[in-house]
This record gives sequence, structure tokens and C-alpha cells, in this order.
Amino acid sequence: MRIDVLGVGFDNLTMDEAVERGMELLESQGTHYVVTPNPEIVEVCRENTEAKRVVNGAALVLPDGIGIIKGAAMLGTPLKEKTPGIEFAEHIVERMAKEGRSLYLLGAKPGIAELAGKNLAEKYPGLKIAGTHDGYFQEDAPIVEAIRESGADAVFVCLGAPKQELWMARNGEAIGAHLLCGLGGSLDVFAGTVERAPKFWCDHGLEWFYRLCKEPKRIGRMMKLPLFLVHVRKEKRK
Ligand code: UDP
Repeated sequence: MRIDVLGVGFDNLTMDEAVERGMELLESQGTHYVVTPNPEIVEVCRENTEAKRVVNGAALVLPDGIGIIKGAAMLGTPLKEKTPGIEFAEHIVERMAKEGRSLYLLGAKPGIAELAGKNLAEKYPGLKIAGTHDGYFQEDAPIVEAIRESGADAVFVCLGAPKQELWMARNGEAIGAHLLCGLGGSLDVFAGTVERAPKFWCDHGLEWFYRLCKEPKRIGRMMKLPLFLVHVRKEKRK
């Protein structure tokens, strides 16, 4: 059973369990997609019913950060731990490399997915990069065809939320890969063009603050975090 946080149902898993489940999906028949919502995405889902439907329709819904963990705890239904998309992705890549599987990287500015693929293939020998494409395209069809032809086992879809979630739900079946993961700005991190917060900040639930210091223009988006907490408090009172 999923744990509901303001209308989004989260899978209550440790990181190890989430990775295990991800690999099961990759090895099973059909197409499955994984989403990793943070409070900002939950707020988007409260306003956008299509985004909400698609997020809740994912095979795995993983809490990306400390905000969701805090929200779930405040509502009296705690989640086991945060399972950030980027860490989940790295574990999946490690397992895929051991099995010689292939990964397609879609998203970010031109050149970034390619660089991310090069770095991942160097770090995880055995991993096959089936192909890459930037995230600034007009039509889905040629991209869907390219991924399908590449024969990728998994696809990282990094177009920002809720664009990537809607994209995966719309195109997953036609792509044919078993596992699609919506991972926001992860390709920028794998490419090395954006730095993830150091471990101390992540361990203390301050990754959002580190990001804000590095990219002050995110302030508008981050105002959704206090709004999320206000909504959680209201929900708790009900
Ligand atoms: N992006 C994209 N196509 C778009 C809009 C965004 O490929 O039409 C990329 C953008 O370049 C970035 C990622 O999507 O690499 C979104 O990053 P953001 O920091 O917003 O994601 P977060 O990790 O905060 O969810």
C-alpha cells in the first residue's frame, strides 16, 4: 500500500528495496516508469490533475527528498527513508553495468546527455550507452523511434517535472524499453556541469538550501516548499 502525501501515493521502500524493485521492473515484461517527486512536484500535482494521474500511475513513486519524508511523518504515516532520484539512478546504472545492459539518456541541453553517458560508461564498465538526445526537441515521434531502434533496456528521461512524467506516460509503450525513469536534472550532475550538494548537506536534509545558494534564481520554485508544509499542516488538522 502506498503512503498518501497530499494526493500523491509514495512507495514505502528503503533505497535497497527500491533498487531491487527497479531491477525487477527492468527484467519483467512490458514498460514501466519510475517517478521521484519532491514537494515542488506534489504541489504541481495538486493543481494539475493530469500530472497527478500520471505520477500516481507510475510503477514506482519514490520520495526524492527530505521534504516528503517530513510531510509523511507530520501526517502520521512515516516513510522509511528518502530515495533521491539521482542516487536511485546511480544504483540502477551500477547493477545494469554488471549485467551488460544498455541505457538511453534523454534530456538536458545539447551535449550534456552525451557527456553524462561518457562519464557513466567510464565509471561503470560493462554499461552500454544505447544512445543520447538532448531534451529540447519539438516532436516526440523521431525520438521515440530512435530509442526504440537503439534497443535500450532502460531510459533516463530528464526533461524536468511534470514534462518528463507526462512524456513517459505518453510514449513508454511505443518505446518498448522495460524501464523508464524520470530524473529531473540528473544528467547535468552525471555530466559534471552541475555539482550535487556535499554529503554533509544531503545527510542533514539541507540539499535544497545548498542548491538555493548555488542557484538563487530557484527561489521562486523553492517557495513551493513552505507552501507544501502549510498544506500538510492543513491536511493534518482535518
Ligand atoms: N530540460 C529539458 N527540456 C526541457 C526543459 C528542461 O531537457 O524542455 C532539462 C534541463 O536542461 C535540466 C532538467 O531538464 O537538465 C531539469 O532540471 P531541474 O533542475 O529543473 O530538475 P530537478 O532536478 O529540480 O527536478
